[in-house]
Amino acid sequence: MKKKIAIIGAGVAGLTLANFIKKFTDHEFMLYEREESLSLEEGYGIQLASNSTKILNQIDFNKIDNEKLYNPKTIDFYNIQNKKICNLNLSKFNSIEAKYTTLQRSTLIEFLKEDIYTQHLRFGKKIKEVSELKDKILIKFDDNTNDLVDFVVAADGIFSNTRSFFEKKKVEPKFKKAIAARVILNSKSELNIDEENISLMLGGNSHIVLYPINKKKDLNMVCIMRCKKYDPDKTKQLAQEIVIKQNPKLKNIFDNEIKTWPLYFTPKIIPSTNRKVFYIGDAFNGFLPTLAQGAGQSIESAFEIFNLLKKERLDKNNNYFENRLKRAKIIRNRSNFNFFVFHFSNPIMQKIRNIFLKFLINRKFFLKSYLGKVYKN
Ligand SMILES: Cc1cc2nc3c(=O)[nH]c(=O)nc-3n(C[C@H](O)[C@H](O)[C@H](O)COP(=O)(O)OP(=O)(O)OC[C@H]3O[C@@H](n4cnc5c(N)ncnc54)[C@H](O)[C@@H]3O)c2cc1C
Repeated sequence: MKKKIAIIGAGVAGLTLANFIKKFTDHEFMLYEREESLSLEEGYGIQLASNSTKILNQIDFNKIDNEKLYNPKTIDFYNIQNKKICNLNLSKFNSIEAKYTTLQRSTLIEFLKEDIYTQHLRFGKKIKEVSELKDKILIKFDDNTNDLVDFVVAADGIFSNTRSFFEKKKVEPKFKKAIAARVILNSKSELNIDEENISLMLGGNSHIVLYPINKKKDLNMVCIMRCKKYDPDKTKQLAQEIVIKQNPKLKNIFDNEIKTWPLYFTPKIIPSTNRKVFYIGDAFNGFLPTLAQGAGQSIESAFEIFNLLKKERLDKNNNYFENRLKRAKIIRNRSNFNFFVFHFSNPIMQKIRNIFLKFLINRKFFLKSYLGKVYKN
């Protein structure tokens, strides 16, 4: 039976779900975004492993202009002094139909908005009130418009405001006492790295990830630094105290224009108490970026909701929460573990970690259980 769905939030999760509903079903839907436009600011890279590209290819992600994508085959591990530790062959997790892909976030959003933009996306929409009418949910927005729907899918990010309308229990995201700093390096970096690969430099209380985001090989750099408080005005000072102190050659990178974010995570995953309401993407659970799976999980969770909808099982004893929880726990444990071991500051611990890393990185059992489970090879 034809259903009506309101999707709240037009990030990766909301847009992915909208594309699947549009392409494969006759259900009615509308995507409600709080902002007045989509953020298409260039310069932010995103990594998509095969678990998410496999899903996106069903909505023709593989037809994006190839020049705007990159398929790195290897992750090179270095210490922060730029001395190589080992490398991981990423192409082992690729298949013909799904490859590890890096790109600008704006390229992904442009692609996801294409079929949705004119008919199915409304901007400047913030929920004011919700109520249940018979078997439906009435959503009132603060611009005095409303919508009566069968299902609400909240995709409004880690600070999901939609939750507060439906749930009594609050889940406050927690500051991880770390920040992320991002820069795009258009020219060749002066580092001793292979710019065709993803480079991961592990330092005390910090790590740096560099990867190409297109065929021109513009490099995206993300630096995660631990700090007690988030102060965007003190980024360069923090970089000096934590990163540049460990390797002065990195100073040039931080001379560029830098954007920063505080890192938050969801401490507890709580189910929806309303069988007509679902949470996807960061609204379900926000992960640390140390496994580069945030967008990937947004895509997976959107796909799970789409499948239940297609099978007409969204309102019947569905197992969305149980399955998503299981999956989120796998990703969360690995993201948290990576965060912990990437940042050792004790030189002995760093040495031990590097020995383990070198030993494990080429072992089939390790790759299969640690990354294979994430990339689903
Ligand atoms: C430093 C860093 C690096 C990362 N790198 C990667 C990576 O390489 N690979 C990867 O897979 N992931 C990465 N991630 C994570 C990834 O970007 C996010 O997990 C993902 O974008 C979440 O998508 P989302 O759609 O759930 O939420 P969001 O992208 O947060 O989108 C939510 C949308 O909802 C809108 N909204 C918010 N509130 C409301 C409201 N009340 N009403 C209506 N609309 C609302 C927002 O404006 C926004 O458009 C990284 C994250 C960080 C911090």
